[in-house]
Amino acid sequence: MTSGLFDKYASLKKSYESLVEASPRNPFGVVIERPLSATVGIIEGRETLLFGTNNYLGLSQSRHARDAAIETATSMGVGTTGSRIANGTFSLHKKLEKRLSEVFHRKHTMVFSTGYQANLGTISALVNKDDILFLDADSHASIYDGAKLSGAQVIRFRHNDPADLDKRLARTKNSPGARLVIVEGIYSMTGNIAPLKEFVDVKNRHNASLMVDEAHSFGVLGEHGRGVAELQNCEDGVDFVVGTFSKSLGTVGGYCVTDHDEIDLMRLCSRPYMFTASLPPEIIAATLAALEDIQNKPELRTALQRNSTQLHAGLKELGLTTSDFVSPVIAVTLETIPQAITFWNALLEEGVYVNLSLPPATPDNRPLLRCSVMAAHSPEEIAKAVTVFGKVARTLGVIS
Ligand code: PMP
Repeated sequence: MTSGLFDKYASLKKSYESLVEASPRNPFGVVIERPLSATVGIIEGRETLLFGTNNYLGLSQSRHARDAAIETATSMGVGTTGSRIANGTFSLHKKLEKRLSEVFHRKHTMVFSTGYQANLGTISALVNKDDILFLDADSHASIYDGAKLSGAQVIRFRHNDPADLDKRLARTKNSPGARLVIVEGIYSMTGNIAPLKEFVDVKNRHNASLMVDEAHSFGVLGEHGRGVAELQNCEDGVDFVVGTFSKSLGTVGGYCVTDHDEIDLMRLCSRPYMFTASLPPEIIAATLAALEDIQNKPELRTALQRNSTQLHAGLKELGLTTSDFVSPVIAVTLETIPQAITFWNALLEEGVYVNLSLPPATPDNRPLLRCSVMAAHSPEEIAKAVTVFGKVARTLGVIS
């Protein structure tokens, strides 16, 4: 007996069952049996090209990071068994926070156990029910969930549209509470890049604050890899940078960096920071090593840019629909869900793994085949992915 607990699953069950019926395999249950390298893994017993891992610089397979993790686990053990405000702060946490502050040229950093918690913990520490959040309509779930946890009023503005934000800020000019605008650097589903400089101008005009989630752009964009704010030369206008270790850095964890001196008070107002175990020491050691790689190997960013351009151009030349932004996230938009499911399965059967993203989790409610490019991909691997996309697209009549 479940006392009706799962009655509300009825419509989810129906769509899940029709998805399972339409797909020879569960698109949300893919198992990477073993990564052989950053770009190749064993899936269903076959060598498969990985084009859906967010491992932009290939650093999940960094020897340097791996050796640092092993050495630290050997000397310090594998976990902290506590929250940052109890027994969960080791000197390594302080070292990582200091290092991130240096990397971003900011005064303070707070490190969280995941990127998801970094958004929840930062947003809920910064605003409450008396304040207003202005969120880009295509914001990541962790931003929406942080907003919910904070209790602040939420006003959404049109995706990547500073003029729409301007209008909405103007309408709330007499509101007594604080106003915080949140945008992302590179958008996780489409690869769109925020016009951050324009957002900074707008928020300055209205005396609001700005937080930028650089989850997908840290290590990727900007001369030193600090993301879209560095690329667009507007770092001074950003009050809080949030990000994750789980993409370009190849580990796990999240952070918020800022010049605001209230950071130690924020630590006491942030439930996702306080009421969870802190990052294990070996993960911090690996993250510190990966940060060194990001700093010392600018050639990784150059390779990533070159590879992103190759995949983007290849897919466009085939006649497939993608965003016009060239970033390591490249999503092919399709018309119908059954078409996307068939396309995704055929790609996997041909040895190319990408992410299948379905409405309602996608912008404009259209299905996407989301690719992420890596610095570690060879030109031949990218050419193979393009060839396979072309073959499947022609077979399904998506292109002629
Ligand atoms: N922000 C954005 C924009 C993301 O895309 C993600 C993860 N996909 C997160 C935050 C959460 O990061 P993590 O998976 O490291 O918890």
